[in-house]
Amino acid sequence: MPSRTPHRSSGTPDLASYDLLAPQLSGGKDRAVTMAVFMDAARAAGVEDRVLSYHSSLGVLEWPPVVFDGTRYPGVSELAALQSAAFGLPPERHIEVTHTLPGPDGTRMPHSLLTEIAAYGRFPRMGSPYCRKAAKESVVSSAWTPIVRRLGRELGRPVRILKVMGLRSDEGTDRKKRPAFRTVQANSARIVDEWLPVKDWPTDAVKEWHADAPVPYSWTYDSAPGAGDWSGTSRCSCSLCVFAARRDVLLAVARRPRLADLYAEVEQARGDSFRPDWRITDLIRHARTCDAPEPGVICPDDGPEFTALQQQVRAALNSTPRKQPDLARHTQHTPCDGCSPRRPPAIPRTAG
Ligand code: SF4
Repeated sequence: MPSRTPHRSSGTPDLASYDLLAPQLSGGKDRAVTMAVFMDAARAAGVEDRVLSYHSSLGVLEWPPVVFDGTRYPGVSELAALQSAAFGLPPERHIEVTHTLPGPDGTRMPHSLLTEIAAYGRFPRMGSPYCRKAAKESVVSSAWTPIVRRLGRELGRPVRILKVMGLRSDEGTDRKKRPAFRTVQANSARIVDEWLPVKDWPTDAVKEWHADAPVPYSWTYDSAPGAGDWSGTSRCSCSLCVFAARRDVLLAVARRPRLADLYAEVEQARGDSFRPDWRITDLIRHARTCDAPEPGVICPDDGPEFTALQQQVRAALNSTPRKQPDLARHTQHTPCDGCSPRRPPAIPRTAG
């Protein structure tokens, strides 16, 4: 069991040298550990009052709250707020942001990542993971602008910001290569450094830490909400992530069939595939007919937010895409493996 003040990755920054300390909370299991480690360090440095936590909400695309066997399990945005509160930040110091565009009446309205994909015409790829920038990094960076202007005037120098992330080496080769500390932006207005305080934490240590954590982990990590077996999805952000493992996507397709169908509409209309190697249309068929993981719970996705997303996505599909999806014409799709017969499925319960 790791200690509550765990091993930090080398290169722990001088927290007192920053004007704004900004942990990025996604609601995932790694972010809770990160927040615990980071807040210990912030308290030790006497700079708790410089901390503002941020959650860049993906709206309907995130794992939603579910009610299962009479118990309510929080969705991702709610978990991010709980992670902030559990380690001592008052509610006004946790900020949820989302990507918006001007609406018809001049006010700003949420602009979903799936709408952006539909308008762009291509799904994000390893070489151009524009979803992270469009839906997360740029949104948080814009939220810092008023603070940067105000502090910049007061200080008469670039504002120093530390962005604290929960990425870990165990999550993949790209994350293993990423340094635990680096400068990600430097101009006359702001200098932004990035710190990954739990980069070296193994996945098992994170799960062990959660056994008596002061904040719950997302229901999607389990085979069914509350099961406590870590046999659900391995990650938790967009339910249908284009970079997720195949099992995670199959599970997400089975848990959110209406959302998967909406991704399939985009795929069919634009001609680009969900991933270079898999069409979501095929994955939907696999999830329904093959030896795919049992969903444990099915999200109804029948609320007004989902209807608004459908309308927004379909409106985007009625316009010419900004990019032609020629990537799709050059990729090999993994053929259907013949759909080995599926065991008789347990009847999953619908959430809500
Ligand atoms: S969860 Fe996946 S699809 Fe969603 S923004 Fe992150 S990388 Fe992109």
